[in-house]
Amino acid sequence: MKKYNVAIIGATGMVGQRFASLLENHPWFNVAAVAASPRSAGKTYRDATGSRWCINKPIPESMADLVVLSATDDIDKIAPSVDFVFCAVDMKKDDIKALEEAYAKAECPVVSNNSAHRFTPDVPMIVPELNHYHADVIPFQRKRLGTKRGFIAVKSNCSLQSYVPALFPLSSFVVEDVLVCTYQAISGAGKTFETWPEMLDNVIPFIGGEEEKSEKEPLKLWGDIKDGVIVSSPSPSFTAQCIRVPVSDGHLGAVFVRFKNKPSKEEILKTWKDFQGYPQKMRLPSAPAQFLHYFEEENMPQTKLHRDLEGGMAVSIGRLREDTQYDYKFVCLSHNTLRGAAGGAVLLAEQLCAQGYMDK
Ligand code: NAP
Repeated sequence: MKKYNVAIIGATGMVGQRFASLLENHPWFNVAAVAASPRSAGKTYRDATGSRWCINKPIPESMADLVVLSATDDIDKIAPSVDFVFCAVDMKKDDIKALEEAYAKAECPVVSNNSAHRFTPDVPMIVPELNHYHADVIPFQRKRLGTKRGFIAVKSNCSLQSYVPALFPLSSFVVEDVLVCTYQAISGAGKTFETWPEMLDNVIPFIGGEEEKSEKEPLKLWGDIKDGVIVSSPSPSFTAQCIRVPVSDGHLGAVFVRFKNKPSKEEILKTWKDFQGYPQKMRLPSAPAQFLHYFEEENMPQTKLHRDLEGGMAVSIGRLREDTQYDYKFVCLSHNTLRGAAGGAVLLAEQLCAQGYMDK
């Protein structure tokens, strides 16, 4: 496999640092450039991150002395020097939209963590195990942008990365109604206990915009490509409550589900056990060997014990049982900054490379 040169846009941030750490020694990707706001531009990556470095591994030596470029002012320099960019920036939504389109129009594909383009109709939003085939919309997007190579692909929000992977493989039983409560880590807000001490011994029953994303984004994942755009599915129907809890990493979901054709408990467990997506079949470097892990013990999965399963890329499920109002209920867990952010985007980039979309 050839090596692809990549840039991390937003490299100094929490997700950007996660990218840097995951891409150190990646078999396919070499980080050739890092970029952030004009405040960081001109400093070395080591100096620009400084005491903000929040990964529990040291800053990668191969990147520490790279001079940080300006994400907005150095597009002409960055785009031609790499095969594609990862993007995770904290800017106004319209500014992110414009920034990502500018890279795409400079013939540099963008794999994005940001929410700005998730509902642009010809931008695929992909969880590689579930809807890798939505990449088929890329030629239509390229036509709209007037590009040969450049395009934008996004990953979905971190909250749904626990419950949608558990539900999507059950589509043959026709998932009708889903009620989910998510218990979300503080790193999802870009925080640690040092920067958000109010979260110690506390629960906050509100995360801005999260419930809407948790209800709406799954429908795009279930959608189909029609006339060059992805049309969201009208079903299943989702209702969500998203709650911030005092854990560092890991989003847990408590799910209630009703089916059109109610499966047996054994059928659900077998579907989860046997499930393999495109990354497993193609043996992509960041793919977990087993995507969905079911725990029989009634007090599992637990955030602290299981969030790092298979490099933080697997989903843990437990407590499947019948419900009095829905058909079943269960709990599920995924790592929000690995599977739910940088790890999910790296896996998406691996998929797009395997499909030939990153070729020159
Ligand atoms: P963060 O820690 O605040 O980092 C933000 C990054 O954006 C930094 O590199 C920052 O550079 C850069 N930036 C800020 N203003 C800029 C500007 N005007 N021009 C260019 N770059 C600018 O944020 P984060 O938590 O990593 O999140 C980044 C994105 O990922 C957000 O869209 C967020 O919604 C999304 N996301 C986060 C998570 C999570 O778990 N944290 C999960 C999924 C998605 P400086 O250091 O120079 O300021």
